[in-house]
Amino acid sequence: MKSENIKNSKAAVVLLSGGQDSTTCLYWAKQRFDTVLAIGFDYNQRHKLELEQAKLIAKEANVELCLMELPILSDITKNALVNCNISVETYNENQFQKSPPNTEVVGRNMLFLTYAAIYAKQYSIENIVTGVSQTDFSGYPDCREAFILSLEKTLTLSMDYPYKIHTPLMHINKAQAWELADKLGILNIIKNKTLTCYNGIIGDGCTACPACALRKRGYEEFIKRKI
Ligand code: ZN
Repeated sequence: MKSENIKNSKAAVVLLSGGQDSTTCLYWAKQRFDTVLAIGFDYNQRHKLELEQAKLIAKEANVELCLMELPILSDITKNALVNCNISVETYNENQFQKSPPNTEVVGRNMLFLTYAAIYAKQYSIENIVTGVSQTDFSGYPDCREAFILSLEKTLTLSMDYPYKIHTPLMHINKAQAWELADKLGILNIIKNKTLTCYNGIIGDGCTACPACALRKRGYEEFIKRKI
């Protein structure tokens, strides 16, 4: 359904980056809502390819994708996701428990969810879906439930509009996220078309960067349980 025809509250806006988590959320939302729209952001991220994957994934899912340009984010932050001359830190769980890795884009989720909320209200949509998780997260503070609940309240107050931010992955680990993708019947899409890797390799990725390490560990655990 095209966005201009939406008139019911059984609709949701999904934040789509072209990665494993947001793609799983896209299909999760498709199962629960009559109408689903997607929103993606171009913020001069390291790999433009993820936007191409987001476009492809949205097209295959028959979901309209709005791509918003936010290049300013890369001018005012310094991290490995937007500065190609900073190399991505390799996976070290102990260190990430103390401070977020250098791939943290400060304030990103707050900005993205705020834009998603403005976009949603335009179409009388109250539901927003995002793939953040505090279970197997990389130490990013804006992936935690406390932040999401707080922002939901703030957005509701700021626009006098009853937003609901859905976080289907919040309390599940990566293995369970693979299990959810399996239940949704999208294992192949997640495995072959999503881009999670910080080094820009689609699918299984480079296997060494923090995102790949999490994804690989989760997949192996999921397969072990499935057998
Ligand atoms: Zn990687």
